[in-house]
Amino acid sequence: MSERTLSVMIIGGGIGGLCLAQGLKKAGVKVAVYERDETPASRLQGFRIHVNPSGSLALHDCLPPELWMLFDKTGGTFTGGFTMMTEQLSELLHIAIDDERTGNHPVARHRSVSRITLRHILLRGLEELVHFNKRFVRYEETAGQVIAHFADGSTAEADVLVAADGVNSRVRQQYLLDAEPIDTGVMILGGKLRLTDGALALLPPRLLDGPLMIMPPEPASAFLAVWKRAPGGDRYMRLLGIDRENSEDEDYVIFGLGAKRESFGFGSDPLTLQGPELKDVFRRKVSRWHPMLRKLVELLDDNEMEPTRIRTSRPVDAWTATRVTLLGDAIHSMTPYRGIGANIALKDAAMLCAKLTEAACGEKPLLTAIGEYEAAMREYGFAAVASSLQAMEQSTARRGRGFVVAKTAMRVMNAVPALRRRAMPA
Ligand SMILES: Cc1cc2nc3c(=O)[nH]c(=O)nc-3n(C[C@H](O)[C@H](O)[C@H](O)COP(=O)(O)OP(=O)(O)OC[C@H]3O[C@@H](n4cnc5c(N)ncnc54)[C@H](O)[C@@H]3O)c2cc1C
Repeated sequence: MSERTLSVMIIGGGIGGLCLAQGLKKAGVKVAVYERDETPASRLQGFRIHVNPSGSLALHDCLPPELWMLFDKTGGTFTGGFTMMTEQLSELLHIAIDDERTGNHPVARHRSVSRITLRHILLRGLEELVHFNKRFVRYEETAGQVIAHFADGSTAEADVLVAADGVNSRVRQQYLLDAEPIDTGVMILGGKLRLTDGALALLPPRLLDGPLMIMPPEPASAFLAVWKRAPGGDRYMRLLGIDRENSEDEDYVIFGLGAKRESFGFGSDPLTLQGPELKDVFRRKVSRWHPMLRKLVELLDDNEMEPTRIRTSRPVDAWTATRVTLLGDAIHSMTPYRGIGANIALKDAAMLCAKLTEAACGEKPLLTAIGEYEAAMREYGFAAVASSLQAMEQSTARRGRGFVVAKTAMRVMNAVPALRRRAMPA
């Protein structure tokens, strides 16, 4: 497709920024991405993500058909379940995610995706358009253009600047002063172990039906999930140029524990602790849990232990559209307790892509197009922020009588198929 005259620069080559770049390239709009990482492989972007029907649709809209096919074929096994259990592995509620409710749609489905594979796919074909080692520091607006300044002293200019630079967005710090996310006080201590036959034998069988949320009597919760590439996926990985034998993109189990920071008893700043020290903290927190879960903690790879501070955005009043706009965590960062942050970033990317393409085709003025995107994004984006915060608060709240009642309610729901069906997400 011949290039349309609008030019767009994207700050940040994460999930949202790269999806937008793919979409704009597909639509023939001139685009460039500026990413602070030195190379595509500077940071291991581990862990799986759950891509829901809305995220799948957004990727389908933005990716060219051959990359969509690779995305579709290289996903993980997805059994469609989600189970809540006590720390003694007694089942509270098993929810089946039912693809029949989305009409077994070939695109709009739930998927389990490797972040590493997704990144390879999103970068594919953008080799000339993504500029690495470009740390954005500030921008200035001139008549009809935006100029970005980078830490190496270089600059770039375009008609539109899109902030896709994540939760610590430098663009947001300059553009929307009141939109800084706040620290929730909750931390997630997470780790990973390789899915060997030995590890498989140790897993609670329900884990093979989908992720587990463990609800112990103390104010904390743990998340366990298996990432396993679906049969046949390796063939398509080779089409992506990835030999799985020699890549970091292997099958694994993730185990994360979330709680208020003070309840971990870190001793010193958790961000300065080494893997073995972090594992000791984890070990102490699960010392009374089911032996299978304790054993899994022992197997976690020390080098992959990571503490994550959980932050959340606050609702932002509407602003007047300009040539600078934002997407994803840069504007609506949310707790990971509903597992939807990346899906909303993808939805932003697809919607902004459609609006910028309309402007590039002369169907509407540029600022009208950006304003329409921002009005819709504020609505669904901050609704997702609120529901993700609520899910975190429920999972990490002090346990009182309400917790006992909630556990009983889950068990009742679990025993009555009609009630259980009502708990299923669409
Ligand atoms: C433990 C955990 C589990 C999660 N699980 C899920 C899940 O299952 N499903 C889901 O939907 N979401 C999940 N999320 C949320 C998801 O990871 C984020 O919402 C998503 O990555 C946001 O995408 P983004 O493109 O906005 O930002 P990011 O993916 O953070 O990308 C931002 C990019 O900008 C770059 N950058 C930053 N600053 C600069 C700068 N100054 N100059 C240039 N480049 C810069 C960064 O290097 C990065 O590449 C999870 C989050 C966590 C913490």
